[in-house]
Amino acid sequence: MVKQITIISGKGGTGKTTVAAGIAYLAKGSAVMADADVDAPDLHLILHPEIISTTDLNISKKVVRNEDLCKKCNLCGEHCQFDAITADTYDRYRCEGCGLCIRVCPEKALTLEAFLSARILISNTRFGSFVHANMEIGEGSSGRIVDTVRKEARKIAEEKNLTYVIVDGSPGIGCPVIASITGVDLALIVVEPTLSGIHDLKRILDVTIHFNVKALVCINKSDLNERITQEIEKFCKENGIVLAGKIPYDTIVPQSIIARKSILEMPKNCVAEELKEIWKIIIENLSK
Ligand code: SF4
Ligand code: SF4
Repeated sequence: MVKQITIISGKGGTGKTTVAAGIAYLAKGSAVMADADVDAPDLHLILHPEIISTTDLNISKKVVRNEDLCKKCNLCGEHCQFDAITADTYDRYRCEGCGLCIRVCPEKALTLEAFLSARILISNTRFGSFVHANMEIGEGSSGRIVDTVRKEARKIAEEKNLTYVIVDGSPGIGCPVIASITGVDLALIVVEPTLSGIHDLKRILDVTIHFNVKALVCINKSDLNERITQEIEKFCKENGIVLAGKIPYDTIVPQSIIARKSILEMPKNCVAEELKEIWKIIIENLSK
């Protein structure tokens, strides 16, 4: 049975991808990686994927006008709440595909058609298979794209009889995050010791509780603010949340990003050592 683990954070820039790439290294040979941060993907920068297949994903519906039928009455323009269409203009990037203009058009000049939303990419990397996506400009259906990325990753893991799917999730608490965590076996929340970090942690925990996903917490750059780190530890203890680890600040992290390597591929360092411990705790909690 494939176990799915998603690394998430309440906001971007907390070190989520550094942690995900470290775990990808530790799980190599037994995992498929997936980048579910489809709005701002960056795991590929570390994994150097060699793309082996590309599939078009057409899910966004947009209006198409048959100019031969249009009588320029502008009823579509009067009803569109997104200022996407008038008798003479149409802005595809504003169109939400709600279909209202189609209902009011007396000439049946408008139809909805599926457009390219993203290309789903399957790649080989030095850590194993990797599923990611290239979203089209202006595309808003990232939740469904995340869902497709995760399904593909799981399919590959099942075909190859691998144990894990490691998902670099989306930050925040919106639709792509929900798509990143629903049905996973465990979510690892990466938080920084700042006041907004605590606030973001509580928000994302509410989401994991709502979707009945077991969540562990790790504090990144934990030594930059010991007081808030202690506050997060206390919060986790009081709420029965497993603190998987505290990652100290180390300039080796930006060096690894510049070198486009996982932190585990850098010379021996304290961040890598802590990630090894975090991975052990993740495995222990998966089997509980
Ligand atoms: S409502 Fe239909 S006929 Fe009228 S302007 Fe729009 S597309 Fe043309
Ligand atoms: S489908 Fe909806 S958003 Fe798009 S042009 Fe028609 S009314 Fe506007």
